[in-house]
Amino acid sequence: MSALLQIERLTAGYGAAPVLHDVDLTVATGSITAVLGANGAGKTTLLRALSGLLPAARGRVLLDGRDLRGVRVEEMVRRGVAHVPEGRGVVTELTVDENLRLGGLWRKDRADAKRALDEVYELFEPLARRRGSPGHQLSGGERQLLALGRALVGRPRLLLLDEPSLGLAPKITAQILRLLRTLRDRSGLTVLLVEQNVRGALAIADEAVVLALGRVVSRGTSVDDELRHAYLGF
Ligand code: ATP
Repeated sequence: MSALLQIERLTAGYGAAPVLHDVDLTVATGSITAVLGANGAGKTTLLRALSGLLPAARGRVLLDGRDLRGVRVEEMVRRGVAHVPEGRGVVTELTVDENLRLGGLWRKDRADAKRALDEVYELFEPLARRRGSPGHQLSGGERQLLALGRALVGRPRLLLLDEPSLGLAPKITAQILRLLRTLRDRSGLTVLLVEQNVRGALAIADEAVVLALGRVVSRGTSVDDELRHAYLGF
């Protein structure tokens, strides 16, 4: 399978001291990668560095072989990179429908943007029910679904998803994880998933990457017991 994303010796952080150190990672097109690690390991920082929110100090990130360095957020979206940060990003003054439409605003193919919107309503029944409600009336879980739904309206190729289960009931979490698998199988979506529900993430992931102190300490199709005890605390 071809690589959608190649991360080469990526070093990034917030000040003088880097959080990520020399991260190397190849992500196959149409795969789900679970990014695991203890609190503070650098998972969120990795997603931020990939979507361009955080500039790389060293190293590079290639999408389809093209360097993403210096690419602005709007252009990232056009190239198919969608970043759903932890429990945020909903415009609370706008309705659910308006928020979702924002996700497709930039798309030239208006007919397909409309189709994508309809698909999201089909996939996320709670959003369909609250179509006209302003964002501020939504529960944490509904906001989370809305943020994900909005990203999907843009039909991304690479979805960077940070803790989608935060604040969600286990049933909805399971639904979201199943949905990611469906999107991967149906439309070849590539996902980098940061998830506190490690078992759930591993159940759908093709590959698991474990970060510790900003370094990749393991990569593979699973996480063995020793790594689990050492880095994931269970
Ligand atoms: P968590 O599971 O707690 O979200 P994480 O693996 O996602 O953890 P990061 O949020 O990437 O970890 O944080 C990695 C390190 O970077 C931590 O030491 C954290 O304190 C630091 N850090 C995170 N955000 C900032 C920021 N905006 N400014 C400075 N340091 C930060």
